[in-house]
Amino acid sequence: MKNFTELLEQESFSKDDIIRILSSKGEEEQLLMQKAHELRLANIGNKIYLRGLIEISNICSKNCYYCGIRKGNKNVSRYLLSDKEVLKAAQYAYENDFGSLVIQGGELESDAWTGRIENLLREIKKLSNNELGITLSLGEQSEDTFRRWYDAGAHRYLLRFESSDHDLYHKIHPNDALHSYKRRMEAIDLLRKCNYQVGTGVMIGLPWQNVEILAEDLLRMKELDIDMCGMGPYVEHHDTPLYKFKDELIPLEERFSLSLKMIATLRLLIHDINIAGTTAMQTIDPEGREKAFKAGANVVMPNITPTEYKDSYLLYDNKPGTKDEKEDSTQKVIKIIKESGFEPGTGIWGDSPHFKKRSK
Ligand code: SAH
Ligand code: SF4
Repeated sequence: MKNFTELLEQESFSKDDIIRILSSKGEEEQLLMQKAHELRLANIGNKIYLRGLIEISNICSKNCYYCGIRKGNKNVSRYLLSDKEVLKAAQYAYENDFGSLVIQGGELESDAWTGRIENLLREIKKLSNNELGITLSLGEQSEDTFRRWYDAGAHRYLLRFESSDHDLYHKIHPNDALHSYKRRMEAIDLLRKCNYQVGTGVMIGLPWQNVEILAEDLLRMKELDIDMCGMGPYVEHHDTPLYKFKDELIPLEERFSLSLKMIATLRLLIHDINIAGTTAMQTIDPEGREKAFKAGANVVMPNITPTEYKDSYLLYDNKPGTKDEKEDSTQKVIKIIKESGFEPGTGIWGDSPHFKKRSK
C-alpha cells in the first residue's frame, strides 16, 4: 500500500484514496494541510479575496429541514432589505475596496423578485463604475431568471447541492417538487449554460452522512468541474426538524476537522478554484477562518448586512458576529488575513482562475 505522502502527490484520486485522506488524523492530517497549502501557493498565490456579504432577505419559500429561516419556522421575524439599504451596503463595499459582493437570501421565485434583483444589479454596477463583481446566492431559479440576472451584471452564483447522495438529500429536505434533487442538479447545469462561474458545496457532519458520501461529494464537484466552493460544518438550529437528531451527530470538533480536510482534499482535486472559508467554521472555532485559509481556502465573506437585521438571518444556532457593525467585521477580517500570513485581495474581482482557464 502507498504511504500517505505518496498518496498526496498523486495527480488523480479514486474514491478509496479520498476516503483514506478524509480519515487521516494527527501527523497525516498535518501533511494533508501542508500539501493543500503548497498547491494553493503554486496555483493561485497567497491572496484571500474579499466579498462583502449582503443578506438581502430571510423570507424563504422552502422548508429545508436543517435551516433556521425555513418557511415553517414561525419564530423568525422576517425582513426584506429596501433597495436603499442594499445600495448603501454596496456603496460601503465599493468605498472600502472589497472588489466584490455576494447577495444571499431565502429562495423566492416571482416576476417581481426577478425584476427587483435585476434592477438592483444594474444600480450596483452603476454606482461602482462597473467595478464591483457580484455573486448571487438566491437559490434555484428558472433559466430565464438566471439569464436576466447574468445580463444585469451578476457573474458568479453559489448553489450548494448540499449532498450528492440522493437518499441523504431527501432525508434533509421535504420529499416534494419544491425540494427536488433533480431540479437542484439541473439548476447547477443551467448556471453553467448561462455562463456563470459556478459555485456549489455541501454541509459536513449531517445526520446519516459518512466519509463515503463526502468522498462522492468531492468527486461530484470534480465531475461538475466547478469554479467555486463554499462548504462548512452543519450546525444545528433548535427550531428545525433535524434538531431532534442532534445527539446522533459527530461532535462539533470532529465536524470542524472534517470540514478542514474536505477543503484541503478539494484543493488537491482541483488546484485553481475559489474556495471560501465559511462563517459556520468560525461558529465552531473562533480561529475557524484562519485554519480554513491554511487548509487551502482563498475567499472570505465579511458580513456587511445592516446590523439591525443580522440577528434575523440565523441559519444555525450561535452564528458569530451578529452584533458587529460592518466596519468591525471588515477590520477584523483584514487583520486575520494579514496575521495568518496571507494578503488581502482588495480592489479586484478575484475571479476563479479555473473559470478563466476554461473560458480561454
Ligand atoms: N436560500 C439559498 C441561500 C441561503 S442558504 C440557498 O439555499 O441556496 C445558504 C446555505 O446555508 C445553504 O446552501 C446551506 O448549505 C447552508 N445552511 C443552511 N442551514 C445550515 C445549517 N444549519 N448549518 C450549516 N449550514 C447551513
Ligand atoms: Fe431557504 Fe436556503 Fe434555508 Fe433552504 S437553505 S430554507 S432554501 S434559506
